Amino acid sequence: MNSLRKKYFLSLLFLIIISLLLFALVLNWSLDRYFFDYQLQERAQELEDFESYLNVIYESENDLRTIREHIEEYAALHNLIYHPAPRRENGMMHDHQDSRGHSRMRDMVEEGYELFVGGRSIGHLTWPEENNESLLAAEITERTNEFRREIYGILLPLGLGLTVLAILFSYYISKKLTEPLSGFTTAVKEIKEGDYEVELKEDYPQELQHLYKEIKQLSQRLNYLAQIRKESVLDLSHEIRTPLNNILNYLTALDDGYLEFNKEIINDLKEETQRLEELSNRLDDLSMAEKKIFNNEQKEVNLKAFFSNLSDKFNRRAENNNLNYSQKITVPDKIYLLDLEALEIIMENLFSNALKYTGSGGKIILQAEIKAGKLTVQLEDSGIGIAEEEQELIFERFYRTDKSRSQETGGTGIGLAITKELIEYMQGNISLESSEKGSIFKFEIPLQKGRDYEF
Ligand code: ADP
Repeated sequence: MNSLRKKYFLSLLFLIIISLLLFALVLNWSLDRYFFDYQLQERAQELEDFESYLNVIYESENDLRTIREHIEEYAALHNLIYHPAPRRENGMMHDHQDSRGHSRMRDMVEEGYELFVGGRSIGHLTWPEENNESLLAAEITERTNEFRREIYGILLPLGLGLTVLAILFSYYISKKLTEPLSGFTTAVKEIKEGDYEVELKEDYPQELQHLYKEIKQLSQRLNYLAQIRKESVLDLSHEIRTPLNNILNYLTALDDGYLEFNKEIINDLKEETQRLEELSNRLDDLSMAEKKIFNNEQKEVNLKAFFSNLSDKFNRRAENNNLNYSQKITVPDKIYLLDLEALEIIMENLFSNALKYTGSGGKIILQAEIKAGKLTVQLEDSGIGIAEEEQELIFERFYRTDKSRSQETGGTGIGLAITKELIEYMQGNISLESSEKGSIFKFEIPLQKGRDYEF
């Protein structure tokens, strides 16, 4: 039995047994308190009835001597002792009604029952003593104990039965509670050993559904990363080989005299070299972003000026690509503190993707706003879109969607990996909505105080 299960089991069992014990204690206490009083009350009722009877006789005969005789007869019959009140007290009037009740009943055990006839006390009826204890108290205690024994005769087997049930129940519940955890442990172990296709039962309690989803996503992510590890070297060598081959072919053709050196060839060679340079820059950016050492320099920036500058450049580039560009920037003219170089790379990556994956005549919309200490930027395009199952993956390095590969747009599959790394490094987050009609990349970054900072 693992230790968590043992803890659940013992805690439940402890709770149930404590509840049973408490129940027994309360029952015991109630018997002493209420059952004892109940019997006392019964006795008092008998005596009150007798007292009423005496009062009726007194009203018709008005003779105290007859009354005393009745009392003595009653005392002899019920094994009670009659202590008549001294003569002078006979004349005293008592308002005894108020003194009736609980305390009078308890006093009755010690002092006996005081009889009132015609509003006057005419003495006490007491119980004989046995072993220094009033016979009434002894009798009632004995009856209470008898009742207690009867009750326990029923409750004890019931309690034992309940305890056995409690043990079984606690065992079952603790097993049920810890079972999913064992499932998770096995799953994580399998993932660790490289088996990413783990199948977990789906009917987990609500609280564990979350953990279940996380493990499932973790295994999918690890699965992808494992594939990437295998493919990335290949991808990279392919990315390098294409421009290198082109350069080599040109040089060989020139060397062999098949081609004549001219401006066009220089441009082609330059383009291929630039592709290589871009790849190497991207790889540098990525490794820097990943190590979180990217610049790491907070600068005071006027974001309004930054975005207006950026919009001019984006507009020009969009026009060159025959695209419609618009923007909505609601950023105050204030100084904010942030890593400008990182923000530039993020914007450049998102915008160059929007350009690359949106066909001529399409549109790109940039929106930026600052609210509650956060910069929110959204870049929307009417491009080729990204299939739902690929939306998580495009942020992984070297991942390119099938659609974009088939369109021969070029690209390394590194840009979004860098973007995500940088945004996370700036304590922000990025999300994506995409359909056939296009994509919306949206990211948020918390801002820090600049010189005349104000939100
Ligand atoms: P790449 O250099 O290939 O553009 P990224 O990491 O920037 O690398 O993007 C990864 C992949 O995500 C791209 O190859 C493309 O398949 C997809 N992608 C990124 N942005 C867009 C977009 N705006 N529209 C459609 N697909 C996109």
